[in-house]
Amino acid sequence: MDTVDPTRRSANMSKVRSKDTGPELLVRSIAHRMGLRFRLYRRDMPGTPDLVFPRYKLAVFVHGCFWHRHPCCIRATTPSTRQEFWEKKFAATVERDARQTRALEDLGWRVLVLWECGLKDQAALRATLARAVEDADATTRRISHLGTLPPRGYRPSRTTPASRPTSRRQWGC
Ligand SMILES: [Zn+2]
Repeated sequence: MDTVDPTRRSANMSKVRSKDTGPELLVRSIAHRMGLRFRLYRRDMPGTPDLVFPRYKLAVFVHGCFWHRHPCCIRATTPSTRQEFWEKKFAATVERDARQTRALEDLGWRVLVLWECGLKDQAALRATLARAVEDADATTRRISHLGTLPPRGYRPSRTTPASRPTSRRQWGC
């Protein structure tokens, strides 16, 4: 029998930021095999991204569909009891994610969110990572070609495919 008060349980769960989970390990091993260099859990960056690709100024989050409310995903269910509690909690998580993304973008980082349900398709995952890296590379080249630093407030990531919300078609959910 589950004796933990739901409020307390959820507080515990949100406090313990999961590290080294299966989905993250999968993304790391694919990135590694692609020959990309990355760092993990940069605590000095907003939201402590799961993976950071410094060369490409690319921050990657591996999000669980339930907690982070993957739009249109069947895994983003709402428990039937205490719905108000859960909806508040989910809204806070989504709001925090958006805030962290904005903060990273303001610092000139691109943000890529990989949803857990999409990781089954490893070929698609490799393609997504490759595209995100290519986009970043192109921007870097463009900037160095111009021979100037990006203007103040320049935010390349806003318009890149990598930072657009993941589409239903892309992940098939
Ligand atoms: Zn999902």
